[in-house]
Amino acid sequence: MHIVQPGMEIDVLKENSKVANENYRRLKEHKIRSVDFMGSIGAGKTALIIKLAEKLREKGVRVCAIAGDVTGVDDYSRFEKSGLKAFNCNTGHECHLDANLVRKSLNEIDLDDYDVVFIENVGNLVCPADFPLGTDYRVVVISTTEGDDMVRKHHDIFLHSDIAILNKMDISDAVGVDPEVIAEDYRRLTGGLKEIYKCSVKKEQGLDEIIAALKL
Ligand code: MG
Ligand code: ZN
Repeated sequence: MHIVQPGMEIDVLKENSKVANENYRRLKEHKIRSVDFMGSIGAGKTALIIKLAEKLREKGVRVCAIAGDVTGVDDYSRFEKSGLKAFNCNTGHECHLDANLVRKSLNEIDLDDYDVVFIENVGNLVCPADFPLGTDYRVVVISTTEGDDMVRKHHDIFLHSDIAILNKMDISDAVGVDPEVIAEDYRRLTGGLKEIYKCSVKKEQGLDEIIAALKL
């Protein structure tokens, strides 16, 4: 649940950025590159992380993932089943990860064993935007199945992200969504400076471009 009391929110966000800075420094001390994946339930964050990790492992990059979810071990189990070492991070009832939860997860990880840490945030397009975790990159993932209005409806998360990804390009026709509408909304929102990355995790298209954009 999001903090709503006026005044209190500022303290919570201030405390969060303090801890996020500590996480960032700690990851840097271990020469780790880190990415926070945000997006709705069903956008394909878990599958995307699995595929990116597979590609990186082929190149000898040591990757692990933190699976952020309200409850349960579903994403954690999918990661582990795919061969990706994972750490489960349940928020209890919060609808977003915060820097303190990530700090606790980092305590479980032997940071000398990894080059890259992927963090899958809780499925939510709203409040994760307000809670940086201390990663190098913040990524927002949407999919064509969510409709063509996601950028128009969720400015904050797109403006708080370093890169934006449009997944499930392979079924855009079937769901009647024109990816160009989304691409144009994103271009407009970012003042013509940024392009959304289009991909299909299922067809393994567009993934190398994402890896390059994240400098992994
Ligand atoms: Mg997931
Ligand atoms: Zn929340």
